[in-house]
Amino acid sequence: MKIAIVGAGIAGLAAAARLQYAGHQVDVFEHQNYAGGKLTQIKVGNYRFDAGPSIFTMPQYVDEVFSICGKDPKDYFEYEYVDDVCNYFWEDGTRMTSYADIEKFAKQVEEQLKVDSQPVRNMVAKNQFKFETVGDLFIRKSLHQLKTYLSLNTLRAVLRTPRLQLFQSMNQVNSKALNHPKLVQMFNRFATYNGSNPYEASSILNLVGHLELGLGIALPKGGMHDISQSVYKLAQDLGVQFHFGQKVDEILVENKKTKGIRIGEKKMDYDTVVCNMDVYFAYKHLLPNASKPTKVLEQPRSSSGIVFYWGIKKEFPELILHNALMTEDSEKEFDCIFNKKTITDDPTIYINITSKHCKEDAPKGCENWFTMINVPHMEGQNWDELVAHARKVIIAKINRTLNTDIEKYIEVEEVFEPRIIQNRTLSYQGSLYGISSNSRTGAFFRHSNASKRIKDLYFCGGSVHPGGGIPLCLSSAKIVAETINS
Ligand SMILES: Cc1cc2nc3c(=O)[nH]c(=O)nc-3n(C[C@H](O)[C@H](O)[C@H](O)COP(=O)(O)OP(=O)(O)OC[C@H]3O[C@@H](n4cnc5c(N)ncnc54)[C@H](O)[C@@H]3O)c2cc1C
Repeated sequence: MKIAIVGAGIAGLAAAARLQYAGHQVDVFEHQNYAGGKLTQIKVGNYRFDAGPSIFTMPQYVDEVFSICGKDPKDYFEYEYVDDVCNYFWEDGTRMTSYADIEKFAKQVEEQLKVDSQPVRNMVAKNQFKFETVGDLFIRKSLHQLKTYLSLNTLRAVLRTPRLQLFQSMNQVNSKALNHPKLVQMFNRFATYNGSNPYEASSILNLVGHLELGLGIALPKGGMHDISQSVYKLAQDLGVQFHFGQKVDEILVENKKTKGIRIGEKKMDYDTVVCNMDVYFAYKHLLPNASKPTKVLEQPRSSSGIVFYWGIKKEFPELILHNALMTEDSEKEFDCIFNKKTITDDPTIYINITSKHCKEDAPKGCENWFTMINVPHMEGQNWDELVAHARKVIIAKINRTLNTDIEKYIEVEEVFEPRIIQNRTLSYQGSLYGISSNSRTGAFFRHSNASKRIKDLYFCGGSVHPGGGIPLCLSSAKIVAETINS
C-alpha cells in the first residue's frame, strides 16, 4: 500500500518505521526542514538545548519500535536510568529528592519533611495499582474498537472501578491521603505531565506518578533529541522517503475514502493517509469539507509553556539534572493557568541541565539551562508582556530560592512561548499536549486513531488518543500501524 504521513513528529516517525517494515511504501511530508516536531533541539552560541520534552519515561516504548522492525535497539539508541528523578526546592529552604526506589524516597520524606512515610508508600502503591489496571487498556489500545471492550483486562478494570477513584480530583485524593502539604504538591504536579489541572482532573491521572516514581526516568545518551533522531534514522534505513519543507494543504477525499494529498497545486495519490499534525488544524485546513467531530475538537486545550534556554557561565553545584523550584501557592498557580489564563507571580520552575551528562552541550565549566514554566494556552493574551513578566518572576524566584544572582551568569538566551510553539509545530493554541484532561472523563474522549467518517484516514500524535507526551505518542503510532496492518 502507498501511505502518506503528514508530519514528522515522534508519532509520525514511529508510525512510518512500523508501516514501512510491514511492507508498505511510506512517504513522510514535513512542513519544517527537520524531523522530530516538538522533540527537537536548538543551538545558541556554543550551547545545545533540547527544545521540548525534558522528562523521559517508558523508554521501552522507543526500544519497541526498533525491535518490532527487526533491529537491535542498542544499535540506534542508548539511554540510562537516573537515580534521582527530581530535586525539589522550596523557598523556606526545604529540599527533597524523589527516587524511583521507594526505600530511598521514603527516607527522604522522613528526613526532610519529618513525617511518617507510610502514606507516601501507600500512594505510590495505589498509583501502581491504577497504572496496572487501566494503563495497558488506556495507553496501548484503541478505545474506539469493540474488541478492546471484550477482553479480560477490560472486565478486570470495570470490576475495579470503585477503587480507581475516577470521580474525585487528583487534589482531593492526594490531600486526603498524604500527610504533608509539600507531598500533596509533589503528587499534584503529575497533572502537568499532560498539561492538566490537578484541581479538576480525575485522580485516575495519578497513574502518571507511577511512570516516574515506579518505573523511573531515563536519560538518552545525547539528550532528548536522540529519541526522535534515532527513530528517524531507523525509518530512513528501512526505506521511508522524507520530504522536508513540504506543508500538506489538503487531504484528498472522494466518496468518503482517502485518495491522497495536495501540496500547493500538486496532487499525489495515496491509498492511506496518516495524519500526525494537530487534529484541530487537520480538520480546519486539510479537511475543510469533511463533517467535523465538533464536540471532540472543541474540548479545552492543555497548558502551554514558556521556556528560557540559558547558557550559564558558571556551574551551580547544588543543581543536579532535573529540578523543580516549587511555587508557594499551587492552587493560585493552576487557577492562573486554567481559569484566569495568565501567569502567576510565583510559578513552579522546571530546570533541566543536560550538560551535566552530555559534556558537549555546553563549553567547559558552563551549563545549558532549560528553564520552563507552565502557562495557559493561547487565547488572545498579550504574550510580549507575559513573557517579559515571566522572565522577571523566574529570575526573582531563582535568586530567592537558590540565594544567587542568576542574571549575571546568563551568557546566551533563547525563548520559546506559545506563539512560537504554535508556529513551529502547528499545534493549536500552542498547547503542549493536545487537549487537557480537566474533565473527569476527558482523557477517555480524545479523537480516535482511525477516522469514523473517512475510510483509510488515520491519526497519531499528542492531539489524539491516547494523548500527549512521548510514551503516549508512541502508543498512538503503534495503534495506527496495528490497525492498518490488521
Ligand atoms: C516545551 C515542551 C515541553 C514538553 N515536555 C515534555 C516532557 O517532559 N515529556 C514528554 O513526554 N513530553 C513533553 N512534551 C510533549 C511532547 O513533546 C509531545 O507530546 C510530542 O513530542 C508530540 O509529538 P507528535 O507526534 O504529536 O508531533 P509534534 O511534535 O506535534 O509534531 C507534529 C509535526 O507535524 C508537522 N506538521 C503540522 N502540520 C503539517 C502539515 N500541514 N504538513 C506537513 N507537516 C505538518 C509539524 O511541523 C511537526 O513537525 C513537551 C512539549 C513541549 C513543547
